[in-house]
Amino acid sequence: MISKRVCIGELFMLSGYRNLTISRKLLLSNLAFALPMVVLIFFMNISFSCDIDIGRTELAGTRYLRSLTLLLGHVSEYRFVDAIKKEDTAEKVQDVFASLDTLHKNHPVLLNEGSLSLQSLEAFWNDGQLDSTQQEKLLNNVQDFIVQIGQNSKLILDPALDSRILAEILVSLLPSHCNALNRLIHRMNLNGLNVSSNQKGASTPHVFDNMQNNVTLFQSGAEKIITEGKRVLVEDANYYGVSSSLHENFGPALGKYQQAVNGFFSLVNKGKSHPVSAEAMLVAGQRLGSECRQLFLIGLDELDILIAKRITSYQKWRLFGFACSALALLLASFYIFILSKSITSPVRTIIAYTRKIGDGDYRAPLVGDFQAELKTLANDLKGMVKKIVDLAAFPLENPTPVFASDMFGGILYINPAAEKVMKSLGIELKEFLPPNHREIVSACLAGCRDCSETESAVHDLTFSWNYYPLVGQNIVHIYAHDITLQKQLAAQLQHDAFHDGLTGLPNRALFIDRLQQVVRRSGALKTDFAVFFLDLDRFKLVNESLGHESGDQLLKTAAKRIYSLVEEGATLARLGGDEFVLLMEDVNIHQAIAAAKRILKGMKEHYFINDNEISVTSSIGIVVGRSSEFLTAEDVLRDADTAMYRAKANGGDGYMVFEDTMYQKALARLEMEVALKRGLERDEFVVFYQPIVDLLTDRIAGFEALVRWQSPEKGLVPPGDFIPLAEETNLIVPLGRKILSMACHQARRWQKDIAGNEELMISVNMAVPQLANVNLMEEIDAVLLESDLPAHSLKIEITESGIMEDVEKSLVVLSEIKQRYIALGIDDFGTGYSSLSYLHQFPFDTLKVDRSFVVEMEKDEKNKQIIETIVTLAHTLHKQVIVEGIETKEQLDQIKQLGCEFGQGDYFAKPLPAEEAGNFLKNS
Ligand code: C2E
Ligand code: MG
Ligand code: MG
Repeated sequence: MISKRVCIGELFMLSGYRNLTISRKLLLSNLAFALPMVVLIFFMNISFSCDIDIGRTELAGTRYLRSLTLLLGHVSEYRFVDAIKKEDTAEKVQDVFASLDTLHKNHPVLLNEGSLSLQSLEAFWNDGQLDSTQQEKLLNNVQDFIVQIGQNSKLILDPALDSRILAEILVSLLPSHCNALNRLIHRMNLNGLNVSSNQKGASTPHVFDNMQNNVTLFQSGAEKIITEGKRVLVEDANYYGVSSSLHENFGPALGKYQQAVNGFFSLVNKGKSHPVSAEAMLVAGQRLGSECRQLFLIGLDELDILIAKRITSYQKWRLFGFACSALALLLASFYIFILSKSITSPVRTIIAYTRKIGDGDYRAPLVGDFQAELKTLANDLKGMVKKIVDLAAFPLENPTPVFASDMFGGILYINPAAEKVMKSLGIELKEFLPPNHREIVSACLAGCRDCSETESAVHDLTFSWNYYPLVGQNIVHIYAHDITLQKQLAAQLQHDAFHDGLTGLPNRALFIDRLQQVVRRSGALKTDFAVFFLDLDRFKLVNESLGHESGDQLLKTAAKRIYSLVEEGATLARLGGDEFVLLMEDVNIHQAIAAAKRILKGMKEHYFINDNEISVTSSIGIVVGRSSEFLTAEDVLRDADTAMYRAKANGGDGYMVFEDTMYQKALARLEMEVALKRGLERDEFVVFYQPIVDLLTDRIAGFEALVRWQSPEKGLVPPGDFIPLAEETNLIVPLGRKILSMACHQARRWQKDIAGNEELMISVNMAVPQLANVNLMEEIDAVLLESDLPAHSLKIEITESGIMEDVEKSLVVLSEIKQRYIALGIDDFGTGYSSLSYLHQFPFDTLKVDRSFVVEMEKDEKNKQIIETIVTLAHTLHKQVIVEGIETKEQLDQIKQLGCEFGQGDYFAKPLPAEEAGNFLKNS
């Protein structure tokens, strides 16, 4: 259980650590690094402090030793030197004891007193006169103290070899050496050499015989001191730098000591064979003792110096260690701080960048000082974002509103185009989405199929909604297409399909549809309806004289006018050109006629088109009827058209109610047209020739070619029965071509065959549609070429009204004809509305006075005057006059009187077949 808890705890710690930010982790690692450093510094400090403390203890020890050495020296002096003042020595000893007391108080651990304490030693000294044994004991005790303090103050544990050897010399070698010297001198006394006596010069033979061992020991001790002392000097350079005072003070002291030792032992050795003066011996011994103490004291001084040096060195090292550690810690912290910054700052930049990308700000820049792996990471991230941006560009840059929806209809994504649309329309998302949005989403995901049939209207816009399911992700992509324009176009197309583009009125298809409904309805309701077929009279003239733009303008205005003239509920349509149809329901014949009259009157009012005042009349065909079982809208329209045609045939500016006979006539006309076409194919047309007589010479000047239709069914049909229809149907163009060819060929034959007729003229009638034929000139040239007829032998007759239909165009054609030297004649002059201002512009050669004037000439004097006026006019213009329709001698005479150049009529000859005409020519 416990282990489990620990485990969980560890895991918790670990997960806690894992969740830490990089900067915190780096801080922790900094601490983890700094902690051992601190511990290291701590222990290093302890180590240095210990060493310094040891040094301080050593210094205290040396002070102790100095005092004890003094005590040793004073006691020895006191004992062995008679010459000194005992009181002085005692005083010195007291001083030493005082200093020893202080030291003992300050450093009690240095002296672990056993059977004899310092106090007891002092008491022992103060007790009175010491005998030699007591003094000996005192010296031994002091020596023990020296050794003890030397050990306790760790002098011989000194890490530096020089000071350690020096300490050993001072603590263990020198004290015992001094003591041994004391004892030696004491023995010398016992053996008879009483150094304290004044028996100077006494010999000392064999004084050391019984103490040979002691001497040998003493000598070896001295040698060891000298050897070790020298070693101190040698080793000195290896520790804490060279101690100059050691070499300047201790070295000489050691040398002096060595000299004293040498001096002493040379006496001792001499004494073995020769008698030596006791005094000399004593002096050498005392000198040696003195040098020994001197060496001891100097040694202590040097030891102090060495220890102090060591302490100073340790203190320096400790400071240096501190400084280095602190610097290392500082540097490490600084480095980790920089490292942390160099990692966390770019990481933060990257995090901020990814957040922006996450929020859809794909244009956010990734700017920062990225190095090493972070640079690669940043570049990879940029590359990744670029790819994301490229992908995101599909919905982002899509001009169509795009959405993503979750399975519940919640919108997860809205593209900028969608936001723009909603903003521009000032609507919320809820108002924009189709009302059944949720249902579509559900159906789409459930059925795994696209749903594209929804349309919704927002303000005046229409949107088509396409739902595409991403089944695996439970997401639906939604596209809203603005189909307003398509809708409008479709509506426009629909409208255009049933309306006239110019006037906006219903067109033929819509009218037929409505009419059909009315026809059916009227059958069921037993009510009448009326259809008016209205055509503007001579509209073509407006078009040709003022231009098509004005024509269009007139049509628009006329449409509006008709509309204003009819009652509400009527359907007005334009079939095309200048044809309008009007449908009225529930009207009888009288109401229809009244309406027609009203319209005719209204339509006659002046129009102002592009600064031109125009007056146009209309023709109306009316069908009033009730539906019959077989009646269709097309039939009704056709009948109205027929009635209108009749009205127009009556001169226009009127109405005509449809009757069945009209239909019959129209039918007959249609049949005629078919027969005409067939006749043309079968060459059923023949040309008759009516002579034109020169009234001065009474000779035949030429012939007029007049066409006849040799119909197998109808026999010989006069041109009046088919020319108008041929003109209407444009069949006159191929027919006229044939007539021209036949006439020219015939005329040329007569010119050649019948003598005296080389200058025979042939007049050929030409209708307006022929003049409009663009190939006319080519055809004329071809015929003249084929027939070999001289151009001046051909005269083309054009009716006055034909020319006036389109003056400008006529002028162009006529001048082209004239350029070929073909003669031109105005036919039926006096029936049209020739403007005299135009007349002189036309390049014609002859004027043919219409037959009607001749017929009436005898009855009415006015007609004769008209002919006379025409003749005068023609002559003024240097034209010749032909009078046609001369039937009687009287007429001829009168016409001759009027000064007409040529005559034509039944009086001379009726139009004759070619052969007869040829004979007539021969016989005339
Ligand atoms: P138009 O060009 O004025 O021809 C004269 C017409 O008057 C001819 O009638 C002729 O027979 C008739 N006519 C001549 N003198 C007399 C007369 O003394 N008394 C009576 N009662 N009639 C006379 P037609 O041949 O029936 O031609 C009628 C019209 O048909 C022509 O009038 C002309 O406009 C047209 N036409 C005839 N042939 C052609 C043709 O080849 N091409 C074209 N475009 N029109 C033609
Ligand atoms: Mg004619
Ligand atoms: Mg005529």
